[in-house]
Amino acid sequence: MKPLEINDVRNFASIQFSENLYNSYQLFFNLPSGQNIAVGKLGRFKFPAGTYVYTGSAKRNIKSRIARHISADKKLKWHIDYLLSEGGVTIYQVKLFSKTECELNKEADGIIVVPRFGSTDCRSNCISHLKLLRNI
Ligand SMILES: [Zn+2]
Repeated sequence: MKPLEINDVRNFASIQFSENLYNSYQLFFNLPSGQNIAVGKLGRFKFPAGTYVYTGSAKRNIKSRIARHISADKKLKWHIDYLLSEGGVTIYQVKLFSKTECELNKEADGIIVVPRFGSTDCRSNCISHLKLLRNI
């Protein structure tokens, strides 16, 4: 099935789609400047300025999961929360997929900046669910 691509991220809440068709998602965002960011218990890492993709999944309520990622107002819980909240980051594109998050993650070309980022409970040996696509 074709992925659902959303570019009007600011109006995400008003976009209608069948949640049960999708299992996984990718968030595309730019980190405007290189930064040292503490990622919860994982530690502190230097993130180069660039375009990143984060791959995640939600078996149900995928829409509210993504809305949470987009929202600036939340308690920091997942690794990605720290990067999105502290990095001055704006998500510019969201894609939803029917395949599993690890399949999707493995298909994404990019450089791993932080091993184990978003993949601590990953069963497919992904090194990281965050990849740097290109430097800016
Ligand atoms: Zn994985």
